[in-house]
Amino acid sequence: MRRVFARGGESPYFCQKPVKLEHVGIAVKDLATAVPLYTQLLNSPCYKTEEVAAENVITAFFLSGESKIELLQSTDPEGVIAKFIEKRGEGLHHLAFDVPDIVAEMDRLRAAGFQLLSDTPRRGADNKLVCFLHPKTTGGVLIEICQDTHL
Ligand code: ZN
Repeated sequence: MRRVFARGGESPYFCQKPVKLEHVGIAVKDLATAVPLYTQLLNSPCYKTEEVAAENVITAFFLSGESKIELLQSTDPEGVIAKFIEKRGEGLHHLAFDVPDIVAEMDRLRAAGFQLLSDTPRRGADNKLVCFLHPKTTGGVLIEICQDTHL
């Protein structure tokens, strides 16, 4: 692997291959409408739905190559997805990147000046530990980092 740091302040973490786009999160009003739409669009069935009670959402997952599409429907009119749709309408909600060590990555991002939306990883859908980054520090895009807990 090519070393990209000058001496001093070296981070072996930075020399790892770039993080993979794990999934794209899309806020929808109604999975009953959105799941058939995405099934047709991707020509691939929804392989899993899962409620994440702590986040007030039901999720539905599709495979797209090595990445996934995560549809998110709110279960609570006051939930973050409901509020998002109220403000911006349905559509792209977040990008999620797979990281090998979420705690190390949170430390790295915090030190680099990104605003994390939780101090510790939270349990997300699809057997993941997750943490979100505030869009005001990421160029306007809500970013999720996630670590697979299957490994
Ligand atoms: Zn997500």
